Amino acid sequence: TKTPSIKSINPFNNEVVKEFELMSPEKVASMIDKADQAFKSWKNTSIEERAKIMHKMASLMRDKKEDLGKLATLEMGKVLAQAIGEVKICAAIFDYYADNAAEFLADKPLEVPHGEAFLSYEPIGVILSVQPWNFPFYQMTRSAAAHITAGNAMVLKHSSNVPQCAQMMEDLFKEAGLPDGVYTNLFVAGKDIEPIVENPKIKAVTLTGSEPAGASIATAAAKQVKKSTLELGGSDPFIVLEDADVQLAVKTAVQGRMANGGQVCTSPKRIIVASGIYEEFLAKTKEAFAQIKVGNPMDSDTTLGPLSTEKAAEDVLAQIKKAAEQGATIELGGKRIDRVGAFLEPTLITDITPKMDLYFEEVFGPVMMVYKYETIEEALEIANATEFGLGGTVFGTDTKKAVKVARKIDSGMIYINHATSVAPQLPFGGTKKSGYGREQAIEGLLEFVNIKLIRTT
Ligand code: NAP
Repeated sequence: TKTPSIKSINPFNNEVVKEFELMSPEKVASMIDKADQAFKSWKNTSIEERAKIMHKMASLMRDKKEDLGKLATLEMGKVLAQAIGEVKICAAIFDYYADNAAEFLADKPLEVPHGEAFLSYEPIGVILSVQPWNFPFYQMTRSAAAHITAGNAMVLKHSSNVPQCAQMMEDLFKEAGLPDGVYTNLFVAGKDIEPIVENPKIKAVTLTGSEPAGASIATAAAKQVKKSTLELGGSDPFIVLEDADVQLAVKTAVQGRMANGGQVCTSPKRIIVASGIYEEFLAKTKEAFAQIKVGNPMDSDTTLGPLSTEKAAEDVLAQIKKAAEQGATIELGGKRIDRVGAFLEPTLITDITPKMDLYFEEVFGPVMMVYKYETIEEALEIANATEFGLGGTVFGTDTKKAVKVARKIDSGMIYINHATSVAPQLPFGGTKKSGYGREQAIEGLLEFVNIKLIRTT
């Protein structure tokens, strides 16, 4: 029988580009042993030494941004310009931790009546990081840059559809001078993760992905009393207040929703519009949809490529069909595009009610749902109706009023007059079933350190 493998498939034409062998449990165990050995020296390196390597990673990524971008586009179909943009954000994250880690990890004095007390931030060991394919470089980066700079080692299990990006990250770290074993790529299947979590040399786990994967890995970690952080799904609300700049709101919502083929945890999935401007909003949204250019994601004029896999396209199609059967209105799109590749029409849906599954679900594709509200209480009820609580947006000219609305949305991040976005210095993460813990910023850096109190009397 053939050895099971991980396949790199181009979703633009469904061709298998490359295959990688899955690693045996013995091989994985020996790599974790090596990571644990590497940790023992890495934790004693100076922050300056670590920062030098992180800066090198940043410059390597900037130098190779075209090639890395092409690799992401090849494996998961995102538009090339967006893939290159993603690589630039990665470089910024590496630079950010290189520049700020010494300050963030410095001993923190605490006020006490006599003697001295301070906090010392100490790395804890080998972290298992499980990441999704939708931002193949950014997801690995925000996890690795923080925890490796903090002095931990990392074994990373990437999604099975982006093995070349996974391999590339390990190669880049090597080129940047990171000692062997501090960062290791694992080619294993998602379903085989549990024994890895149980390995005593793994000290904590972090996962970005779907709710079932998160629940399963967090359960395995809890059984071993290991800390976990989870960045899971989202169905972000985008509330458009009566006084909003409608044209700008439409542009922001449509661009945000179609970016990355609609496969972003924080894309504006549910647009909730004041009834007085609803018709205008819908008409302008239809005009904006007409400008979407579907095509080869490698071409510079394409704005929407294929979804990441055939299965992804079929899953989203099934959600649309079900919503239509349950009475939602498909204003635009709603079908597969008649061409090779994992393509789906950009889709606009209205008239969604709590009687429909779609009201509560995340749709991971180019599908925009638009709701109408009469009162702000109604807008908030729709916004808070799902089990998710990741990002969100409020659009309105009166910023103070918009912020007041933002405070009432159950979510980890809300942007005013802007789509949910990322920057190295801004903590990223959610509440409710969107997970717990934060990535990026100082909050992300401190997730997997022992915050040790030392007290002298
Ligand atoms: P997924 O199926 O959960 O996959 C994510 C990762 O988890 C992959 O590496 C996958 O490996 C692994 N995995 C799958 N089942 C597992 C299990 N039982 N135990 C441990 N690991 C397992 O997620 P997806 O559908 O590809 O990704 C989309 C989801 O991720 C969406 O819900 C999206 O909103 C969410 N997301 C969240 C964020 C955030 O920051 N909050 C960012 C991006 C995406 P295999 O590929 O081998 O199955």
